[in-house]
Amino acid sequence: MKDVYKLVSECETDLKDIFDEIDATAQKNSEKVLKAFSEYKLSERHFAGTTGYGYDDDGREVCEKIFARAFGCEEAAVRHNIISGTHAITIGLFGILRTGDTMLSVTGMPYDTIEPVIGITPCDGSLAEYGIHFKKVDLTADGKFDFSAIKAAIDSDSSIKMIYAQRSKGYQARRTIPACEFEELYNFVKQYTNAYVVVDNCYGEFCDVIEPKADLIIGSLIKNAGGGIAECGGYLAGTKEAVEKVSNRLTVPGVGREEGATLGHTKNILKGLFFAPHVVAQALKTAHLAAAVFEAMGFNCLPTARERRHCLVQTIDLNTKETMLAFCKGIQSGSPVDSFVTPEGCQMPGYTCDIVMAAGTFTQGSSIELSADGPLVPPYRVYMQGGLTYESGKYGVIRAAEEILKLSK
Ligand SMILES: *Cc1c(COP(=O)(O)O)cnc(C)c1O
Repeated sequence: MKDVYKLVSECETDLKDIFDEIDATAQKNSEKVLKAFSEYKLSERHFAGTTGYGYDDDGREVCEKIFARAFGCEEAAVRHNIISGTHAITIGLFGILRTGDTMLSVTGMPYDTIEPVIGITPCDGSLAEYGIHFKKVDLTADGKFDFSAIKAAIDSDSSIKMIYAQRSKGYQARRTIPACEFEELYNFVKQYTNAYVVVDNCYGEFCDVIEPKADLIIGSLIKNAGGGIAECGGYLAGTKEAVEKVSNRLTVPGVGREEGATLGHTKNILKGLFFAPHVVAQALKTAHLAAAVFEAMGFNCLPTARERRHCLVQTIDLNTKETMLAFCKGIQSGSPVDSFVTPEGCQMPGYTCDIVMAAGTFTQGSSIELSADGPLVPPYRVYMQGGLTYESGKYGVIRAAEEILKLSK
């Protein structure tokens, strides 16, 4: 059996130039974030927090301005009481769409958890129940926006009020869309419609030196944008008009972002943004390393080891159930929390097969921390993401490889 540490070290040598590029991106993004902190004169008093209605919460206002600036947007809503990325996206959809409107997804089917929100899987309170329609255009075979199909869809339906795109591949077998490609989408659709361009930005923040151009970009604070420090929350950032519209749905029509007690969360949300560019770089390096190591061990990886990444998700096809369970056992055992637990397949709501999950995280469900999951069916594809530090991510990869090698001994 080849020494895993030796294999890892060879992979790191091969990846040196890519790691340097990732560091350069983190440097640019950190400077962007620091300039935003400086521009709005962040000060210790902003961390104080409010209770009750949360009137006159300077910290909350400065925090939202800083997020907007760091993401290259006019305004942002950033709240700890947004429970997840799905909740943030739901606020965006209900905030913008009205009865009779159509939402056009231009990246095919949206992320699984958005389906009940739209009403693709029937659900009480979905957009469908309010008379809001859904249409989709798939990406081209090479994973690009299908501009002629998008134009045809817009031309044939004047009810389209939202052009919706998902940046990360999520659980799909497609490429993640680089941030720079959204500008072309934005400029293209605006020639034909004044519909809002809305981007699900989950897992994409700070992977590129810019964020997608859109009227609204939406994400979770327990993924990239929270840097592993924010303990809950989400954001919606974009044009002043779009953010004001969704703010009336976030809280109350007529109140918008003027209220909302921060209860002392502002410091961790901003500290998380401060760490985010660096932590995203750690996770990206971990993903490259995992791909290099498991490719060397003969497994199919997407993206491949040297492919430039635009989100955190790494898939590895582990071919057998035993290998997939061994991989997850290894990742779990390398985690700081619940390292003694052995992940097993189990039934999850909404799935017809068993799902296995490894996540020994400080923050429950946080996938900026090293985690891996997937359905226990061929090709036994595990979705791995995160890594708060490269050292801990690397150790998780080493432990996963060791557990797999044990099987053949
Ligand atoms: C994680 C994710 C979401 C939202 O998921 P939550 O678990 O609700 O935070 C939406 N879209 C994509 C592409 C995601 O990766």
